[in-house]
Amino acid sequence: MNNFKDFNFHPLIQESIDAMGYFKPTPVQVKTIPLILNNKDLIACAQTGTGKTAAFLLPVLQKIAENENYYGTRLLVIVPTRELAMQIDQHVQGFSYHIPVSCIAVYGGGDGETWDQQKSAIASGVNIIIATPGRLISLIGLDYLKSDSLQTLVLDEADRMLDMGFYDDIIKIINALPKKRQTLMFSATMPPKIRQLAKKILTEPEEVNISIAKPAEGVLQGAYLVHDNQKQALIMDLLHDKPDLKSILIFSATRKNVKVLHKQLKSDGFSCGAIHSDLEQHERISVLNDFKNRKLQILVATDIVSRGIDIDSIDLVINYDVPSDAEDYVHRVGRTARAEMTGVALTFINNREIRSFQNIEDLIGSKVHKIPLPPHLGNGPDYHEAKPHKSGKDKSKGKQKFRKRTGK
Ligand code: AMP
Repeated sequence: MNNFKDFNFHPLIQESIDAMGYFKPTPVQVKTIPLILNNKDLIACAQTGTGKTAAFLLPVLQKIAENENYYGTRLLVIVPTRELAMQIDQHVQGFSYHIPVSCIAVYGGGDGETWDQQKSAIASGVNIIIATPGRLISLIGLDYLKSDSLQTLVLDEADRMLDMGFYDDIIKIINALPKKRQTLMFSATMPPKIRQLAKKILTEPEEVNISIAKPAEGVLQGAYLVHDNQKQALIMDLLHDKPDLKSILIFSATRKNVKVLHKQLKSDGFSCGAIHSDLEQHERISVLNDFKNRKLQILVATDIVSRGIDIDSIDLVINYDVPSDAEDYVHRVGRTARAEMTGVALTFINNREIRSFQNIEDLIGSKVHKIPLPPHLGNGPDYHEAKPHKSGKDKSKGKQKFRKRTGK
């Protein structure tokens, strides 16, 4: 399957695929599209950046278009965050440009007008709903959802939703849907709780496994061992050294760091924006759009944007600190080298984070190259400083997770 044309999509959908510049399907698309067209239930282990959104949207749109039946709610996609909901909505707009499919992204926040729009779209049987669990439950509670025509339910980033405590909400939503439906579950990882959920809600699912938790190929990964008081100087060095890079994403664990870095970068003359949870939703969207449209060269962000957000062709990701959850590293690094492009990901490791970084290396199954600090910054911490693992507890965490995932 080397070409989208082999799927024989409706000509008006194929036209949109061409317009979006997709020629060759990605591996997750090759494996899942025929199964979804064949009405199978599916559990797919695929991280963001693999092309999973098109993998489920295209066959569902095909089913709607081939019958030319644009009546009623046919697809419900449940997602963990509003950012992901908006991103999938944008994909729908792209793929359904030439067909009269209606779609709404439904998420919390917003004003009374947004709520009214969501309410009336859902009540009128909009074809595609992309929703975060909380807001959808409110709408179901008020009896707005008309799910009689529902054909397909997608749970996207299912592991993330469970991490965020949405299990009960998901079950409540599913109980409000017709039993006869196709259910597709996408998850970056397959911990036991995901398997349990799959057992509960899927019927004889096909299983597709695209990724173990590894950053996409094509990402060059490097790390600096650096003391906290050297980090700011190092980042300034790196950024001044790379004026050609158009899109740089910097992650930091805390709002405080994000704000400090943002201020410093701006005062050094960089075109830079910041996203953290103190911002209103409309402010976040506007910064994100400016970054996507290349009006901003650098975006500094807390973890909110690390998963599920589709920003094309980021040249460089910098982890200003080591993410405490090893899987978040994979998601952050996944911002670069999307869909078979190349990118660079650099991580700053201080002496307290060495062990967390070792967990990451265990998880991804390889050592990340440690780059020496520029000499004028002095020495950083020694990588072997991490204390031996007492009872193996910390270190085994990453290994156990990896083993569970790969079944080794
Ligand atoms: P996703 O994993 O769905 O978030 O997709 C990651 C990125 O890859 C998005 O920017 C998509 O537009 C892009 N993409 C998905 N499938 C393809 C494809 N077959 N060819 C080129 N780009 C793609």
